[in-house]
Amino acid sequence: MIEFIWRKILKPFLNIFLKSNCPLCQRTTDRELCKYCELQVMRCQFPGGGQIFPGKVPVFVWGEYKHSLKRAIAAMKYNDNPQIGRPLGYWLADGWLASPVAALDKVAVVPIPMHKKKLKERGFNQSEVLARNFCQLTGLQLRRNGLERVKQTQALFGLSPGERLETVQDAFVVGKDFLNRRPRASVLLVDDIYTTGATVNAAIEVLQKAGIKVLGVVAIATTKKPSSQQPRLKTKRENK
Ligand SMILES: [Zn+2]
Repeated sequence: MIEFIWRKILKPFLNIFLKSNCPLCQRTTDRELCKYCELQVMRCQFPGGGQIFPGKVPVFVWGEYKHSLKRAIAAMKYNDNPQIGRPLGYWLADGWLASPVAALDKVAVVPIPMHKKKLKERGFNQSEVLARNFCQLTGLQLRRNGLERVKQTQALFGLSPGERLETVQDAFVVGKDFLNRRPRASVLLVDDIYTTGATVNAAIEVLQKAGIKVLGVVAIATTKKPSSQQPRLKTKRENK
């Protein structure tokens, strides 16, 4: 109980006043990540601000799932550091806003949900933390319960594409935010890591079947290599 009070109530409060240790390198810092690690994570960002992968809908990914970005995501998810989702969510928003797929009109942001059993274990959904911070910067509306995960799925790592598809089938249903009233806005899905697309495709299918438009997907990192044919993403900023 004391540990819970410290972790959930006192520590976040004290962090406003006290310097703490960077979760990646243990250097003292008054930010979520120290300046050195921030720089290292920024180096994993795709040239041009992000990369767009084609799919059912355009998928905007901020960086490559490697080095410091991979460590930052792992520290956030597995070492109870949801605060890392703040800079990551901001950077994701910044990259997406400068990309040609950004849209600010009638967009509702929906995080890929976690099964409630897993949510209880971890204490937070990293995609929701990213989405919340993404919305803070973009000013878009967060619909945290746009989707619900009704099937607990095993980790997709190491599964074949076919097995992945089977695993995520029927994993999602339309959540309580949209049950009684379908949004007039298009949905932008937020995920942490984009791999084969099996998870987001299952989520997109559920929304589309319910008559909800899906604008696209944003994710902070991907294991996919951008195809060599794909032109480097030019940001609006660069075009100016
Ligand atoms: Zn650090």
